[in-house]
Amino acid sequence: MNQSKIHDFLFQNVSILDGVGTKTIKLLKKKEIEKISDLLWNFPQGFTDRSNLQTLDKLEIGKITTIKVKVVKYNFPRIRNLPNKVICEDKNGKIDIIFFNSREGYIRKILPLNTSVIISGKINYFKKKYQITNPAYIVPINKEDYVNKIIPKYSLTEGLTEKIYRKLIEQVLKNITDLTEWHNDKILKKIGNVGWSQSIFNVHQDKENNFNSKFHRRLAYDEILANLLVLSQARKRIKKFKKIKKKFNNHLSNKLIRNFNFELTKNQVSVIKEINSDLQSEYKMFRLLQGDVGSGKTIVSLIAAANVIKSNWQVALMAPTEILAKQHYNLACKIFKSTNINIKFLSGNSDSKQKKLIQENLINGKINFLIGTHALFQKNIQFKNLGLVIIDEQHKFGVRQRIELSNKGGKNCDILLMSATPIPRTLVLAVYGDMDISRLIEKPMYRKDIITLSKPEEKIDEILIFIKKQIKNGNQVFWVCPLIEESKKLDYSAAVKKYNYLMKNFTNKVGLIHGGLEKEKKNKVLNNFLNKSIDILVSTTVIEVGIDFPNANVIIIENSNKFGLSQLHQLRGRVGRGINQGTCILLYKKNLSESAKKRIKILKSSNDGFFIAEEDMKLRGFGDILGYQQSGIKDFKLADPIQHQDLFKIAEEDIKSIEYDENNFKKYDFLLKLFDKANIINEINL
Ligand code: ADP
Ligand code: MG
Repeated sequence: MNQSKIHDFLFQNVSILDGVGTKTIKLLKKKEIEKISDLLWNFPQGFTDRSNLQTLDKLEIGKITTIKVKVVKYNFPRIRNLPNKVICEDKNGKIDIIFFNSREGYIRKILPLNTSVIISGKINYFKKKYQITNPAYIVPINKEDYVNKIIPKYSLTEGLTEKIYRKLIEQVLKNITDLTEWHNDKILKKIGNVGWSQSIFNVHQDKENNFNSKFHRRLAYDEILANLLVLSQARKRIKKFKKIKKKFNNHLSNKLIRNFNFELTKNQVSVIKEINSDLQSEYKMFRLLQGDVGSGKTIVSLIAAANVIKSNWQVALMAPTEILAKQHYNLACKIFKSTNINIKFLSGNSDSKQKKLIQENLINGKINFLIGTHALFQKNIQFKNLGLVIIDEQHKFGVRQRIELSNKGGKNCDILLMSATPIPRTLVLAVYGDMDISRLIEKPMYRKDIITLSKPEEKIDEILIFIKKQIKNGNQVFWVCPLIEESKKLDYSAAVKKYNYLMKNFTNKVGLIHGGLEKEKKNKVLNNFLNKSIDILVSTTVIEVGIDFPNANVIIIENSNKFGLSQLHQLRGRVGRGINQGTCILLYKKNLSESAKKRIKILKSSNDGFFIAEEDMKLRGFGDILGYQQSGIKDFKLADPIQHQDLFKIAEEDIKSIEYDENNFKKYDFLLKLFDKANIINEINL
């Protein structure tokens, strides 16, 4: 095949491969495999040794074994639930091949009487007989080489067998051998000096492979490069978007700031400056404001809003949940009280009359500031002159959504995203390379670090005494009973039990929320907690990120040893947001593992989200960290931001020389397409 044919082939639907019918298409789709290239990214999880054909006198129970046997007898019981059985033998013994849920005709076809076959599967022993149940392979003896060897093991789904998958991947591998390399020698040298097709082959067929094999690294590098290229290109395009400059002075914002009952931190002041100069520039702002929970992002964004409104543009602020949006709305109303700025709230729950009025007053420009949930971006919500969009807690956004958003705001609309996901410095570019970044590192002055303690569960009595005292002083308490098993049936019993127990001890001033509650009910409980009609809130880990409960000063986390550092830190961040000292108590069951001890120690010693994120990565690797799943960095199929940190750095350098020359850049079109990135850049248009 010539090059462009190979390219086309890789982007075709899997249905063109031999042996793919509608059923297989459906099953593959479950694994997010639709194009042929998707098959390639499903790397083997390991390898099964089916080599060393055994005779029937040398079988070991429990071992995966390949045998060569003759079919001697069928036993089809024709009674429901009884399996079909085929008796086979070789010179040295007999074995039963057992089939559940099978059809007689099928068995007769693959195991014809009196013929020899190759069978591979796990050896069991039942009623003094060896048997293999639902063997992985049954092939004619001329196909022995296909089975009697070390075979890749893929993560698949029920109904999609290894046999089927192998057949597909082998067709693909056969077709890509002639693909030419796209990297130049200089780059290749830096990443292990192995070509693309060779790497694909090795990863799929050679058992000597892991994250750090040069083949895996080579492919991971490509993925990293594709990501960085797209982000960098996106950034370049966005940077060229001109807009009408926003014109304002500091009168209004200074007045607002004077009314705060606190001083802005130096860090907040400098970030406000950065944002202001973006707003006043003739280029569109596309900025991320990154900062730990409670670092004071919202206030910063509201000052930006004030300036934009002052220059006669409208502002929209979107939060991920209704409660959070409402909280922002209340805060904004308070801050802008002494002004004539018109602020409205909109969510999916707003009634249609309200909605209509809002629509009207947005279009005619009477509303200056709209705060709400995703409902803000419905088609029928149109602004007269939207000048700034602020998105809170945007870790659920990937690059594609960010671009969509940027387009939606229109030509003159600046964009400010806020995120509390602590991404380590080395990776910021790979996740947010399309944006300018401001960071809030300094904490508000008065805010004391949260005191973190750990206690074995047996000492619950001491804890009850402690929280009784806290409640007496007007404080409130979170009590977190995380789901231990992320099981399908979702077991809330621990939380319910604790709720009942606390109800008895705290005269019914306790609330309960968990993922099984309806939204309305959940909101009601949260509101009860907010307005202090209950003192203790028992929950699974679903406490809304970002909501300010200024009176909640104590958080108790059960089974804390089961959780990662970042997750515990996020939970801990729910408290200590007011003026009073916050306390976090980590409960654990006795006999802590070494790593759990380590985690608890780190948490006790630090309140710095970035530090904790890095420690967490060292302990657990990247994939599991809370928030990252949604941060867009999960989009990496092959690259591991911890294992491959050096590759991220190399890619950053290479990008510069690649982008230096437009023609050179064209060479990477195919690479971008391989990782589904090609369209993104074209979607940026204003
Ligand atoms: P974030 O959105 O980063 O989690 P917020 O903006 O919600 O943080 O701020 C958390 C709390 O701290 C709010 O109650 C806010 O009014 C308060 N706050 C913000 N900046 C300061 C500051 N410089 N000094 C004292 N309190 C502050
Ligand atoms: Mg916030």
